[in-house]
Amino acid sequence: AVQQPITQEETQAFWKSSQKLIRYGGSWSNVIVTKAKGTVMWDASGRRILDFTSGQMSSLLGHGHPEICEVVDDGMQNLDHIFSAMITKPVVELAERLTDMLPPQLNRCMFLSTGSETNECALKMAKMYTGGYEVVSLSASYHGMTHGSGAATFSVGRKGYGPQLPGNFTLPVPYAYRSRFRHPDGSYDWKSELDYGWSLIDCQSTGALACVIIEPIVSTGGIITLPEGYLKEMKKHCEKRGMLLIVDEAQTGMGRTGDMFAFKHEGVIPDILTLSKTLGAGLPLGATICSEEIERVCNERGFFYYTTHLNDPLVCAVGAKVCEIVERDDFPAQARRKGEVLKEGLLNLQEKYPCIGDVRGRGLMMGIEIVLDPETKEPADSLGTAISARAMETGLSCNVVQLKGMGGTFRIAPPLTISEDEIREGVDILDKAFAYVLEQEAFRNVAHGQKSAP
Ligand code: PMP
Repeated sequence: AVQQPITQEETQAFWKSSQKLIRYGGSWSNVIVTKAKGTVMWDASGRRILDFTSGQMSSLLGHGHPEICEVVDDGMQNLDHIFSAMITKPVVELAERLTDMLPPQLNRCMFLSTGSETNECALKMAKMYTGGYEVVSLSASYHGMTHGSGAATFSVGRKGYGPQLPGNFTLPVPYAYRSRFRHPDGSYDWKSELDYGWSLIDCQSTGALACVIIEPIVSTGGIITLPEGYLKEMKKHCEKRGMLLIVDEAQTGMGRTGDMFAFKHEGVIPDILTLSKTLGAGLPLGATICSEEIERVCNERGFFYYTTHLNDPLVCAVGAKVCEIVERDDFPAQARRKGEVLKEGLLNLQEKYPCIGDVRGRGLMMGIEIVLDPETKEPADSLGTAISARAMETGLSCNVVQLKGMGGTFRIAPPLTISEDEIREGVDILDKAFAYVLEQEAFRNVAHGQKSAP
């Protein structure tokens, strides 16, 4: 059923009321979504919009999955939220389910609400366990907005708050497409880049290195997949310095990339794993997961981490259901299969539009980077945003990230429940959006006597 459009007066009142909101630093979308179900959203005019972003990369099983609805309803009726010092059946059930899916040493869980919190908790544990305080993360990283997770976030949001937490260092993100360690023949010496990065950190460190925090695919930073062997090498760097490796699978976890957890693809077991977004499939749920030893040592040393929504029964029941569905319906395999359809569609687009400089990603998590010229790779500043705006107008929601030194990069991560036909439909909308915007650009450039857009 399509949501009834809201009237013009209601729309005006909506935007007037929206001024009561604190703006987040970016700008609001001009689309008023009035309903979301499955892989589709509807706006106030009744327009159907296919969701290629899973909400904010979180609605793993689509919007309003019937089994999740049932669990939420039951939770609200019978066991919603209680004092955090009490643990309940859904919480221990989620702990059982998750640890069953993980390597045996990852067997202690704490359930929190957001990704920022799970990383805050992981960072504090790493500091308490190692006795160090220095944290290393990648240059395009995003691990959260709280002070600890924000200090380990180098992509956005660092400026204007005075000093960041001391002892946060960064390594160059292994960006195969643009790295200075990429040779003219296209080969990429990521190992030298990594060694060089570490040599700088060793210079700066006071000798109190605690941990590395890293995503297996750098998501917000532009869907940058780690080179084969990179995470293994990173783990060696950690071990050499007595540091823990925290792997943040906020976006990559729960099957999205074709493995239940993306660290499996890398053949590395993290010391601490954090999950969020996809674990709650649209609801605020996160998990910090570590070994029995890390949990024990931290507690012996006075670890204290407690929030109002620690181990909340309702969202934990949702998390347990998500685990059940993802395993039962083998969504990792589905993501692999559907991911091939998506990738093929995007590669076809790349052949058609030279401004698509790079297609990257794994499973149902793909990125396409927009450049002015595929030879020079000059980043295209606003082209991606214009194309995504056109796609939205014509029925497809996709997200474009624009970091310094990178062309606008589409982050494409539809719900795992999407059908292959819907994937083709989305790619077709993108195709038309590229054609439309590039034609407009070409007209504009001709009018200004410049060369045509790519
Ligand atoms: N880690 C990663 C990898 C993320 O992508 C995000 C959110 N974009 C976070 C942590 C922070 O999660 P939250 O917004 O739920 O605090």
